[in-house]
Amino acid sequence: MAKIVILGSGFAGLTAAVRLRRRLRGTSHQVVVVDKSPTFVYRPALVEVAFGHKPPSDVTFDLAATYRRLGIGFVQAAIESLRPDIKIVQTREGTITYDKLIVALGEQHAYEEIPGLREHAYNVCSLPEALRLNEALRAWQGGPVVVGWAQFVQTGGPAFEVALELRRWMVQRGLHDPIHFVDPLSTIWAPAGHEAGAFMQQLFDQQAIIRHGGVHIHAVTPDSVQLSNGEVIASSLTIVTPPFRGVNAQAALAHGHPRDWLETGRDMKSVHHPDIYVAGSATAFDGPKQAHTAMRQAEVAADNLLLDLTHSPARRRQYEHEMSCVLDFGRGRGLYVRRSLWSDDHQEMRIGRQWPIAKSLLAYLYVKTPVFKQWGASMPN
Ligand SMILES: Cc1cc2nc3c(=O)[nH]c(=O)nc-3n(C[C@H](O)[C@H](O)[C@H](O)COP(=O)(O)OP(=O)(O)OC[C@H]3O[C@@H](n4cnc5c(N)ncnc54)[C@H](O)[C@@H]3O)c2cc1C
Repeated sequence: MAKIVILGSGFAGLTAAVRLRRRLRGTSHQVVVVDKSPTFVYRPALVEVAFGHKPPSDVTFDLAATYRRLGIGFVQAAIESLRPDIKIVQTREGTITYDKLIVALGEQHAYEEIPGLREHAYNVCSLPEALRLNEALRAWQGGPVVVGWAQFVQTGGPAFEVALELRRWMVQRGLHDPIHFVDPLSTIWAPAGHEAGAFMQQLFDQQAIIRHGGVHIHAVTPDSVQLSNGEVIASSLTIVTPPFRGVNAQAALAHGHPRDWLETGRDMKSVHHPDIYVAGSATAFDGPKQAHTAMRQAEVAADNLLLDLTHSPARRRQYEHEMSCVLDFGRGRGLYVRRSLWSDDHQEMRIGRQWPIAKSLLAYLYVKTPVFKQWGASMPN
């Protein structure tokens, strides 16, 4: 009997756990998930929470109850460090041993890399941050705004939604101050491809959103944002996604990676540790870190781990990196992009009223029904 421990219960961890439990039904292998949080947070809907369109109960569900129904062990504990040499996970509450490990701990927000970012800026990366922004918005009287994402962020999409949603919020309240958009890419929304980038620029022009591209953020003060090109932008409200890096708890597996991400092969197995797989934002792949990519990687990791368990000679699954994204522009309009990132296999962009509806439906299915968390449905392509 093997004990498979999954660290983190976001999109990657939950997907891997459900898939393993389904495939291991009737065997004596044990699956245990560890997460510091008692709840799952459906992060793609946090922009809606920040702007008051959804309450927290629409984007969260209880992890212990979910795993109890599934017959999967769940330990709520903060992981502090790992000892791959003796196969031990050290948590604040005690140690957990494993035979096979899947690391799915997401990303850490490196506020300390930009002076003033923690104190003077908002973001929508977590539920507490989305609620903090909601409170600030309700008290805000107007003035110039800076929205965007910092260097080393690999999830840019939400900042576009924030900028467009904020413009709507301002128009409804008769505010016409400038919105400045900052990001480190030399070409707007480059991972989504030329057509999607050009469309976004057109939207920005229509909404008077002024883009400052190809810049890093040096510092944030109560009333300004300082950029790496020397520019200082006045800001009465700053909403910036903080730099990403791998979480401290996984440092022992990072082997000197400059951002503490974990390197894997395309089979999602750690290149350093044969009993460890990695999925989701914790991986070292370049390009977008998304729920979509996290779930696809988790499926590949779970399937290949099962082959290891049974010493099967079957062909191992290989992960194909791609982005898939729906952006909600408000007023019922939206855009869907799906792009292969390691090949030209799939390049698709569509605009239409069905996309925001599809995005809302997906959130509802994920949070409120067993479709993903019990039946183990894959993220639709
Ligand atoms: C506002 C916003 C909008 C987004 N929109 C989209 C979208 O439309 N489409 C899309 O595909 N993606 C979107 N994303 C990206 C997506 O949410 C992430 O890529 C995804 O959450 C990554 O999944 P993950 O499982 O790797 O990590 P996470 O979901 O971050 O899960 C990591 C888990 O690990 C746990 N953990 C971390 N450290 C510890 C520790 N030390 N001890 C114990 N537990 C720990 C955390 O509590 C968490 O539950 C969006 C993100 C944001 C913030």
